[in-house]
Amino acid sequence: MLSTMQDVPLLVSRILQHGMTIHGRSRITTWTGEAEPHRRTFAEAGTRAHQLAHALRDELGVRPDERVATLMWNNAEHVEAYFAIPSMGAVLHTLNLRLPPEQLVWIVNHAADRVVLVNGSLLPLLVPLLPHLPTVEHVVVSGPGDRSGLDALPVRVHDYEDLIAGRPTRFDWPELDERQAAAMCYTSGTTGDPKGVVYSHRSVYLHSMQVNMTESMGLTDRDTSLIVVPQFHVNAWGLPHATFMTGIGMLMPDRFLQPAPLAEMIEREKPSHAAAVPTIWQGLLAEVTANPRDLTSMKQVTIGGSACPPALMEAYDRLGVRLCHAWGMTETSPLGTMAHPPAGLSAEEEWPYRITQGRFPAGVEARLVGPGGDVLPWDGESAGELEVRGNWIAAAYFGGVGAEPVRPEDKFSEDGWLKTGDVGVITSEGFLTLTDRAKDVIKSGGEWISSVELENALMAHPEIAEAAVVAVPDEKWGERPLATVVLRDGATADYSALREFLGGTIAKWQLPERWTAVDAVPKTSVGKFDKKKIRELHRLGQLEVTTLD
Ligand code: AMP
Repeated sequence: MLSTMQDVPLLVSRILQHGMTIHGRSRITTWTGEAEPHRRTFAEAGTRAHQLAHALRDELGVRPDERVATLMWNNAEHVEAYFAIPSMGAVLHTLNLRLPPEQLVWIVNHAADRVVLVNGSLLPLLVPLLPHLPTVEHVVVSGPGDRSGLDALPVRVHDYEDLIAGRPTRFDWPELDERQAAAMCYTSGTTGDPKGVVYSHRSVYLHSMQVNMTESMGLTDRDTSLIVVPQFHVNAWGLPHATFMTGIGMLMPDRFLQPAPLAEMIEREKPSHAAAVPTIWQGLLAEVTANPRDLTSMKQVTIGGSACPPALMEAYDRLGVRLCHAWGMTETSPLGTMAHPPAGLSAEEEWPYRITQGRFPAGVEARLVGPGGDVLPWDGESAGELEVRGNWIAAAYFGGVGAEPVRPEDKFSEDGWLKTGDVGVITSEGFLTLTDRAKDVIKSGGEWISSVELENALMAHPEIAEAAVVAVPDEKWGERPLATVVLRDGATADYSALREFLGGTIAKWQLPERWTAVDAVPKTSVGKFDKKKIRELHRLGQLEVTTLD
C-alpha cells in the first residue's frame, strides 16, 4: 500500500530558499585582515546566488549536469556558489587548493570543468595550471589579486561582481530529481589517482538535517560557527548547507588560517561553535599559550579529520572550551560519528566516551569486519575494519564524464557497504574507537600495534608538541614503530625518558626503540599527519634515527 504523503524532492534550492527568507537576517562574516570584516546577510547572499545562477547560465552557457569548479577560500562568495550551482542543476566541484599541481590538473581534466570560480588571491596557483587545463574556457575572479597573468591565456576572464551585477534577482530553480548530482569532491587519497565522490541533492539535504540535530552539532540562529574546515574539504563538513536550514551565523576565515588571526577572530566575533582538524587546534593552543586570548565564547568545537589526542582535549577543557570528537570521510559527507556521551554522567564518567570517535547517528549503519571477512561483535575489544552504509554514504566513485561510476573492490563490499579503511572497535553502546588506518597499523611479530595509541600517549607529554608513529621494516619482528616527535622549545627529555613515560600507559612490547626528532610533522593537503611521507623519508635515509636498546 502506498502512503498518502507528499513527495517533495529534497533539493539544495529548497535549503537556499528557506535560509534566505526564514533566516534572511543571519549573517556570513568574512575575515578580510582589515579593521572590519565583511558582513552579508543570508537574504543578500541568497539573492546574489540567484544572480550568479543567471550569470552562469545566461552569460557563460552553463548547462544542467555541467561541473562548475571553485578554487576558493571560505567566504561569502563561496557560499553563494555553493547554492547557485547545484540549485540551477549544475554540479559544484570544489578544488582543494593545497593539492600538488599535478593532482589538481588531473582532477580538473577528469571532471572536464569548463568554468572555474577563483579567489584573486589564488590566481598565482591557478594561472600556471591553465595551459594544462584544455576544458577550462571561463575564469571568474572574485576579490583582489593580480590578474595580469591571465591576459596571455586562451580563457575568458570575468570579474565576479561585474558578472552578477544587474542580473535578475529571481532564478526559476528547476524541479530536479533529488538523486541528481549536486556537488563533488575528490578524495585527498595518498595512493593512486584521486577519486571523485558525487553528492546528491538528497544526500546533502539529509546530511544537513543530521548536522543540525542536537546529537550532532545542534546549532540554531542564536549561534555563530567559525568554519575553519575548508569548503573544499568535504563541503566544510556540511556546515554551509546546515546553516541555511537553521540560520546559524557563519564566521569565515578566508585565507587567514594562521593561529594569530584565528585567535583574534574568536576574541572579536565570539563564535559559539567552531569546526577544524586537530592541527588547527594544536596551533591555536600554542598561540594562546604564548599570547593569552579569551576563547570561552566557543561552547562547543567539532574536531575531526584525524584522531584528536586526549591531551589536546584536556588542554582546551582547561581553557573552558569543549572539544567534541567526530569521525568522517569524504565518502561519508562527512558526518559518520560524534562523541557526545550518554546523558546523566558526571564529567569524570563522560571522559571515556569523549575520547572515542563517537557514536553513529540514525542515518549511518556500521559493522566491523575481521581479517577473515567475518562480522565482529560490538564488544569494545574485537578489532576490525569499519564498514558503513546510509543515506549520505558513497556507493561508488565518479568514473569520468559519460562513464559509469566505479566501485573498486577494496572500497565497496559485494553487498554495497563502504569499506572505510579504518580499523577499530565498537562498544555495545555503539561508541567507535579507531586504532588506525588499515595501512598505518604496525604489524609487529604477528601482533598489531596502534600508531594512534602511541601518538596520543606521546602527545600527553608536556615537552612534545606533535608526534607521529609509523611502521618501519624490522628484521626480527617484520615491522616496528618509529616515533617521530616535535619537541617544544627548551625541552630537556631524551628519548629514553620519553620511552619510560610511554611505559606508564603502553604495553612494554609496543614501546618504540626507534626515535627521531623533526621540526614539524609533515602534513597532507588537509592538515593530517602525512605518514606516507614519513615512511618515505625513513626509507631514503633522510631521518636521523636513534635506536634505543
Ligand atoms: P578525508 O576523506 O580526507 O576526510 O579522510 C578520511 C579519513 O580521515 C578517515 O577514513 C580516517 O582515517 C581519518 N579520520 C577522520 N576523522 C577522524 C577521527 N576523528 N579520528 C581518527 N581518524 C579520523
